[in-house]
Amino acid sequence: MRYLILSDIHSNLEALEECLKLADGKYDQVLCLGDLVGYGPDPNAVIRRVRDLGAVVIRGNHDKACSGLMDTEDFNALARAATDWTRAQLSQEETDFLRNLPQGPLSMDGFQLVHGSPGDEDEYILSTVEAISALQQMMKPITFFGHTHYQGGFSITAAHSLQSITHGPSEDQVSNPVGIFSSCRYLVNPGSVGQPRDGDWRAAFIIFDQEKKLLTYYRTGYNIEKTQEKMRAADLPEPLVRRLEIGR
Ligand code: ZN
Repeated sequence: MRYLILSDIHSNLEALEECLKLADGKYDQVLCLGDLVGYGPDPNAVIRRVRDLGAVVIRGNHDKACSGLMDTEDFNALARAATDWTRAQLSQEETDFLRNLPQGPLSMDGFQLVHGSPGDEDEYILSTVEAISALQQMMKPITFFGHTHYQGGFSITAAHSLQSITHGPSEDQVSNPVGIFSSCRYLVNPGSVGQPRDGDWRAAFIIFDQEKKLLTYYRTGYNIEKTQEKMRAADLPEPLVRRLEIGR
């Protein structure tokens, strides 16, 4: 089975479509690690597109907030403004879809899906300290996670040697595939489709070939001006519009 793994699409339809175009023919099943909505201008269209792909989806914190399952107390003012806007845009059907998304960890054959971390769906795994604790809590050898909007991840060997998975943003959109070894455990972040924060503005995703035991990281440019125009037309906060082009 070859999985296309998407995370943190955040209502960015142009970025999503470009990822699907680049991934076309390279996968059998789509998996999505949460935060379909929030920040961007196309919440309903993104939900419908992901649903039509027959994707396996778990919920993210923005999916909870935008569907009323969680308040926005912990959100900063910009995220709160975008949440209020998204709530007003969502149709009943799309709101119900978000409300019914399962909470991670979601167990799959040989790996699991989480939004934040295996122990807490809202926790950020950014540092090696956080990664070690998450790797120890893992029920499966591979966990795919999102939430940080950083493409990459961590691996640990049987001898407890921890390494960051680095791949380097390549010019040609595809990075070198990373081999998966059965003696190691992995925390893998595909990066964010719709609002990267790792300094590279391009949409991020990965393809996991379970049979060949290969992870391939991808980045692709998209029509960012179009997304920004829609955000301005919707009166979404200007700092959210600008951050897309700097990838922070
Ligand atoms: Zn997110």
